[in-house]
Parts: sequence; C-alpha cells; structure tokens
Amino acid sequence: MEPVVPGEFIGYEEEFIPGFGTYSDSGNVYSSNIGELEKDLHKREVRVKVKTRIPLFYKRGMTAYGTIAQVSDNFAIVDILPRKIDQFYYVPRPVTHVIPISEVKRGFVKNMRDEFRTGDIVKVKIIEITQFTVTLTTRASDLGVVKAFCTQCRHPLVLKKGVLVCENCGNLERRKISIEYGKVGGILYEAESGRGKGKGAHN
Ligand SMILES: [Zn+2]
Repeated sequence: MEPVVPGEFIGYEEEFIPGFGTYSDSGNVYSSNIGELEKDLHKREVRVKVKTRIPLFYKRGMTAYGTIAQVSDNFAIVDILPRKIDQFYYVPRPVTHVIPISEVKRGFVKNMRDEFRTGDIVKVKIIEITQFTVTLTTRASDLGVVKAFCTQCRHPLVLKKGVLVCENCGNLERRKISIEYGKVGGILYEAESGRGKGKGAHN
C-alpha cells in the first residue's frame, strides 16, 4: 500500500477509472484524499482509502479542509479530508458536501470556475447538516482555497500580490483565496494535530 496526499498523480484515465478519494483532470487521475492508494486491477479502478475510520463529528460552525472534487455552474462538491486529532483519524461521513454559488464569497460570482477548480485544497465551514447533504461556506476571509494547482501543468500555484502564479509555465489564475493560502502545511491533517485549544470540531 502506497500513501498518497491530495493532488498527487496516481494514473491515467485510460488505465484506471477514478474511484473513491480521487478525481480526474485532462485524462489524469489524482488523489483528492489522504490515505493509501488501492489499485483494483480487476475493475480497473483506483481508490484512496483511509486506514482508520472514526466518523467525523459534525457541528454547525465547524471548519474543515477538503479537496474540490467537482465544479458545476452553481455549486462545487468537496471531499472533506480526514482530520487527525491526537493519534486518531476522523473520517468524513459518506454524504455530499456542497458549496453553493451563493456561499462562495460576499458579492456576485459570475462563474464558479473563476473561484474553484478540481484538485484545489479548500478550508470550509459547515453551515447546514441534513441526512444526505452538508452545506459549506467559504465567505469569510480565512476560508477558501489554501492550495491550488496550475490548470495547465498541475504545478502548485504561488500567491503573488493577489494573483496565483505558476512558476513552472507562467500561467496566471484566480480563485476565492483564503488569507491562509500557502501557509497550511504539506499534509493538512498535521494542522489539526497536537493542539489543546481551539475552535473547530473538537470541543
Ligand atoms: Zn503551470
């Protein structure tokens, strides 16, 4: 079993069907989750599985990190990342996590694809919980994209004077950026580990 992180390239769509914990972009398949890579050669499917499965306790107002799995005209679907608190990994419930276009930011959003792209890592806040859906917001300044990848070459984008720049191919992009852009560690659940205080889920 091979450990993978969000944004990691794991194969080609012509080889594998993107399964749980993955997304595809321009024929390539990437991990949207932190976990172990599972290649099902029989079904020709790749999945990313999280080892420990303690369901994440949801509460309104709780913040979480996730990967943008799908962007549509009026909403984006997020794969919530597991959260590590002490030595336990809390995994998201198998429900749909949605950012509606009205909750992206203050002001008018013309096109969802100006704000989010598949594979972006986002910080979100839970505003509504129903049986099958969890509604998320990124309106506040600390919420939104914390890490993004170039849509041309998949290189991580660097924030320079409010614009996201690809240092590999020179591409310029925009997003609904969090003030924490670029400040969140490589493996996101480390941001949640070993803390005694805090806002968020566990109080
Ligand atoms: Zn690039």
